[in-house]
Amino acid sequence: MLRRMLLSASNSEELGRLVSASPLTRPLVDRFVSGETAQDAARAARALAARGLHVSLDRLGEDTADAAEAAHTRDAYLEVLDLIGRADLAPRAEVSLKLSSLGQFLPRDGERIALDHARAVCAGAAERGTTVTLDMEDHTTTDSTLGILRELRRDFPETGVALQACLYRTEADCRDLAGPGSRVRLCKGAYREPESVAPSSRAEVDRAYVRCLKILMAGEGYPMVATHDPRLIEIAGALAVRHGRPQGAYEFQMLYGIRPEEQQRLAAAGETTRVYVPFGDDWYAYFMRRLAERPANLAFFLRSLVTK
Ligand code: FAD
Repeated sequence: MLRRMLLSASNSEELGRLVSASPLTRPLVDRFVSGETAQDAARAARALAARGLHVSLDRLGEDTADAAEAAHTRDAYLEVLDLIGRADLAPRAEVSLKLSSLGQFLPRDGERIALDHARAVCAGAAERGTTVTLDMEDHTTTDSTLGILRELRRDFPETGVALQACLYRTEADCRDLAGPGSRVRLCKGAYREPESVAPSSRAEVDRAYVRCLKILMAGEGYPMVATHDPRLIEIAGALAVRHGRPQGAYEFQMLYGIRPEEQQRLAAAGETTRVYVPFGDDWYAYFMRRLAERPANLAFFLRSLVTK
């Protein structure tokens, strides 16, 4: 119930303005967001890389309603890739993209615009010897995102995509994307979804995650296991052994600021471990999704709002 309320709140522009304006939320936001600029993100990436971790840099922002803003987002990604190249961080550092921030839902030609911008970002990444992974947004975007992925993979076959175990359709999508060269980031799913497309029980989502993992680990692609859940991390390790996948033939992924000691433990054990590092000033929706996942953070956040 609380989770659904917070996920609804993540779409409220009014609440977004209120929360973003409060300087008291800043310490909690800083835990999840590496900074406002590409330079901040590159600094965080360097620090994580020095500790043996891989990173995926994500510029915060979604659902652009303006073609100029979409082009600006593309340029911001090209700047990040330039910093990755100059800091010699490729291929340890890649980028994650939300297609909606590149104009996917602009009323005229949105998908084509997002595809063109994403293609430019993929070209920038390839030039520096690194990769791009497409984030997945709510279920209304899945078909469009997978369609754009198919186009991108013609020229950039290493382009990855996130799939959300919470959606009923995802086992079939995992089967479609379990072929050679494919990179799939399996996550539980962070959006509020109707019961017609996703179960409401978290236990059911966990079971679906395991079924999807089995498909990906048995397949010929490169599974990216994006979760903080200790039980799923253990199951992923056991499935990798069962399918004869050595370390490096799959990877673990976690979010910046969440279970950093576990990130370090996995890397020290020889596992490829990637941290998803968000940056930028449009952090409200991302931040609310993180609160929805962890009520303990909510208590801290509410205290900070009322102790003005
Ligand atoms: P949860 O059910 O949130 O947590 C399971 C268990 O993990 C908890 O019971 C606890 O034991 C442990 N845990 C979780 N958080 C903490 C914490 N702060 N401290 C200590 N223990 C903790 N979602 C999308 O919809 N689209 C995407 O493109 C996308 N990309 C992602 C990329 C990465 C790298 C990651 C890690 C997640 C991504 N997500 C994405 C978010 C994802 O869908 C989940 O919402 C989020 O990861 C929380 O799910 P969880 O698997 O960690 O499990």
